Amino acid sequence: MTQRPRPLLAGNWKMNGLRKGLAEIEAIRAGVAAGGAGQAEVLVCPPAILLMAAEKICEGSPIVLGGQDCHVEPSGAFTGDISAEMLKDAGASYVILGHSERRSLHRESNDLIRAKAIAALRAGLTAIICVGETRAEREAGEALPVVGAQLEGSIPPDSVPQSIVIAYEPVWAIGTGLTPTLEDVAEMHSFIRSQLDLLLRGQGDTIRILYGGSVKPGNAAELMAVANVDGALVGGASLTANDFLAIAAAFR
Ligand code: PEP
Repeated sequence: MTQRPRPLLAGNWKMNGLRKGLAEIEAIRAGVAAGGAGQAEVLVCPPAILLMAAEKICEGSPIVLGGQDCHVEPSGAFTGDISAEMLKDAGASYVILGHSERRSLHRESNDLIRAKAIAALRAGLTAIICVGETRAEREAGEALPVVGAQLEGSIPPDSVPQSIVIAYEPVWAIGTGLTPTLEDVAEMHSFIRSQLDLLLRGQGDTIRILYGGSVKPGNAAELMAVANVDGALVGGASLTANDFLAIAAAFR
C-alpha cells in the first residue's frame, strides 16, 4: 500500500495584513507548538513584504512560509515584480502559482504558470499550482476536462513529487461560503490523482492535492476526510489565528 503524503494546511493571506497582523502568526506558532495541527505541515503565505518579519517569528518552529506569486526570471528590469529567488531569500519555501485571482484578474495562462513553476523549482521552492473550474464550466459538465487541461498546461514536465503541490479550488467556491458536495470533491480529487499519475509517469500517488474554497472551522473535518484530499488551501479563514487553528484541529 502506498504511504499517504503528509497533509499540508496552507493559509493564503492574499493582499491582506499589515505589520500588526504578524501577531496572528505569533498566535499560530503558539497553537502549533501546543500540538494544534497534529501531523500536518503548516504553511502561511502572507504578503511578500511581511515574509522576513514572519521568518523571524517562525524561527525554530515547524511553520513554513510561502509567497503568493513569482516572476519567471531570477532578476532584471521588471519593475514591481518579485522573483522566486527573492522569495526564497526572504524565508519562503513554497509559492502559490496560478491562483484563480491571478488567472482571471492578471490574465495568467497555463504556459505562464508553468514558466513560473519552473522558476520556483529553479529557486528551490515548492510550487503550489492552483486549478479549478468556474460555475459555468461546472454547470456545463466541463469541470473535469477544464481541470485536466489546466494540469497538463501548468505542471512542469520534470516535476518530482516533493517539488509540487496541486490545489483544487473551484472558482465559484473561493470567498463565497459555497463548497462543492463531498462527492464532487472526491470525484475531482480522484481525477486529479489519475491525471498526475499519467503526467508524471506513475508518481501521482505521492503528490499532495489540497482542496481550497470556503474551508472554515465548521466544514474542515468533513472536507479533509474525503479520499485523495491531502490538505487545504485556506483564504479568508487563515487571516485570524483562531479560525486557522480551528481548521488545523481537523488534522489532529
Ligand atoms: C483562496 O483564496 O485560495 C481561498 C480558498 O479563499 P477562501 O478560503 O476565502 O475561499
